[in-house]
Amino acid sequence: MVPEFLADPHVAALRRRVDVVYDPDLHSDLGGLFDAIAEASAVVIRNRTQVNAGFLAAAPKLVAVGRLGVGLDNVDLNAIAKANVEVFVARNANTVPVAEYVIGAVFALTRRVFSMKDALLAGSWPRQGSAFGQEMDGKTLGLIGFGAIGRAVAGRAQGLGMHIVANDPILDAGDPAWESVDRADFASVLERSDVVSLHVPLGPSTRHLMDADAFDRMRQGAFLINTARGAVVDDHALVAALRSGKLAGAALDVFAEEPLDPGLRELFSGIDNLIITPHIAGNTVESAERVAMTTIDAVLDRLSRPDGEPPSPDL
Ligand code: NAD
Repeated sequence: MVPEFLADPHVAALRRRVDVVYDPDLHSDLGGLFDAIAEASAVVIRNRTQVNAGFLAAAPKLVAVGRLGVGLDNVDLNAIAKANVEVFVARNANTVPVAEYVIGAVFALTRRVFSMKDALLAGSWPRQGSAFGQEMDGKTLGLIGFGAIGRAVAGRAQGLGMHIVANDPILDAGDPAWESVDRADFASVLERSDVVSLHVPLGPSTRHLMDADAFDRMRQGAFLINTARGAVVDDHALVAALRSGKLAGAALDVFAEEPLDPGLRELFSGIDNLIITPHIAGNTVESAERVAMTTIDAVLDRLSRPDGEPPSPDL
């Protein structure tokens, strides 16, 4: 069962091995979804299908959930454990594009020169003024969450001459990953960074991690980049920090409600130096292929092995 978008060649790759019901809109039709899932042994989803206790109760034959991505905030892992269903994520398949997006966002925010086409085509030649931004060489990039994406961002930003300070209370202090960056507590990362980039999963400890108090701690004129999950940021506190000038800009790829609900659209309207994109930081030609094939291969492997047998060593 595939109740969200999957490109034709990948649907075909599944169909070569198993019977497939593909309906990219089914995730939003709960009645239809629950009917369709009744006979399914596996479901392949993105981030729209809510796999919770109700979903699992409607899917008694389910053995595998394939997530085309890594975030699992739409999958209730407690309910999954009780239902004896295995979850497969496309781990690391979109680490590189998210890291590259973050580097692009750093320059888009700090130089502010990449959206001058309309002004030039209207006949103006705006070379004067302070809109040409800052250099990142020698500046500090703060990373909240130092997993796969945080580390990929760090390596690239170091190549630009940036200093990296990171917070990840779960990553062991002795982990070799810390050797190349400064390990710090959450408050010091905020206090020391010219740009803060978020790379934590969404969970009880990270929901609204970036609240009014966190924005108060950030440097005057700092920038925020969020490619993690929308609800990691308290949007009202962020907008207050942007409107007051405490923050000089923000780039957001993820939102508490996707697509943006009218409240968020209103909240974000008219804010200077706010870049918003529709959860596409991880989407490139290359990563779409990696994400789909990693997930499909893992789900097909699960469907082809008897219950209790370990996964294929190739995966
Ligand atoms: P990862 O699991 O490799 O790293 C996450 C890190 O966050 C871990 O090291 C963990 O210890 C740390 N962490 C957990 N709670 C924390 C806390 N309270 N404070 C600080 N650190 C904490 O995951 P990843 O591959 O680096 O991805 C990070 C997140 O990026 C994902 O969970 C997902 O939500 C998001 N993501 C977004 C896109 C996109 O297109 N925008 C694509 C891929 C991933």
